[in-house]
Amino acid sequence: MKRGLLLLFLLSLNLFAKFEVITLGNSGGVKAGTTTSYILRDIGSKEYLALDAGSVVNGLEEALKKGNFKDIKVPEDSNYTKLGYIFRESIKGYFLSHAHMDHIAGLVLSSTEDTKKNIYGLPSVIDILEKNIFNWKVWPNFGDSGEGFKLGVYSYKKLEIGKEFKIEGTELYGQVFPLSHSNYESSMLLIRSGEEYFAFFGDTGPDKVEKSQLLNNIWKELGPKLKAGKLKGIIIEVSFPNSTEDKNLFGHLTAKWLMEEMKVLSEYSGGTEKLKNLNIIINHIKPNFLKNVDNEKTVKKEIEALNIYKIKFLYPKQRESMIF
Ligand SMILES: [Zn+2]
Ligand SMILES: [Zn+2]
Repeated sequence: MKRGLLLLFLLSLNLFAKFEVITLGNSGGVKAGTTTSYILRDIGSKEYLALDAGSVVNGLEEALKKGNFKDIKVPEDSNYTKLGYIFRESIKGYFLSHAHMDHIAGLVLSSTEDTKKNIYGLPSVIDILEKNIFNWKVWPNFGDSGEGFKLGVYSYKKLEIGKEFKIEGTELYGQVFPLSHSNYESSMLLIRSGEEYFAFFGDTGPDKVEKSQLLNNIWKELGPKLKAGKLKGIIIEVSFPNSTEDKNLFGHLTAKWLMEEMKVLSEYSGGTEKLKNLNIIINHIKPNFLKNVDNEKTVKKEIEALNIYKIKFLYPKQRESMIF
C-alpha cells in the first residue's frame, strides 16, 4: 500500500516533464477574451512564449486566480501587480500562427502596457499586422516598421519556413511550417527544448478539402520524432461537429477529419501504436447560440467515439496549466 502511494506521488511529479502549457484561451470565437492563446515554457525556466494571442490578459488573470505562477516572484522594487509583472516580464515573445482577429485581439488590446518583445510569424502574418492593424488607423503603430511613427514595442521577426530560430529570452527554439486555412496562410510552430518537441497548430483545414499537401508535410516531419518518443504534445484545432459539410468548413477540422490526418501521422511514425497516449490538446471549438446544440459536447463525444488509436485527447479550460 505504502509503496503504491509512493509510486503515485512520483508519477504525480511527472519526472519526464519538459514543457508547461497554460491555456489563456481556447475557443474559436464569439466571446471576447476567450479565444486562442497558450503560453509555453521549458519546465526548468520562468520565461514563456505566447502561442497566438486571441486573449492574453484575461487568460493570465484567470490563471493567476487558479493559483498558477507560484514560482514567479515580483521583485520588491517593482511597481507592478503580479498580473502586470507576468504579462510584461514573464512572456518573452509572441508566435502568431495567422492574423485572424481571434488569434491577435489580446495582443493588440494589451500592447499599450507591454514591454519590448519579438513577434514571430510567417512574412504573410507580419505583413497583415503591419499594414492592417498597427497602422495608426486601427491601432497605433506599436511595431518597428510600417506606417507613420514607430513606437517600436514589438520587433517583427519574419520566419523562414523550416529554418530553426532561437526564441529570444527563453530556452526554446522554433521552426515554422505553413498550413492551408481556406485560401489563407496559417502556420504551425514546432517548438524544441533540448531534445524534445511540442507542436502548436494554427487554424487549418484537412489536406483533402484544402487540396493541399501541407499537413502531410508536417506529419512527415513529426512522424520520426513521435516514433523516437521526442514529441511531447500537440495543440490542434477541431472547430465543427462532423455533421458540417466540407464546403462549410472554411479551413477548419472536424473530429472525422482530424482522425484522417492522424492516420497519415501514424504512417510516418511506424504504426498506429505510436499514437497511443500521444497528448493532443483540442483547440478552437466554435461556440454557437442555438438552443439544445452544444458544439463543445458534441465535438468531444465525436472525437472520443473515433479514437481508435487511443490518443490522449485533452480539453483544458482557460486558466489550466498542463505539464508534458
Ligand atoms: Zn481562429
Ligand atoms: Zn483563422
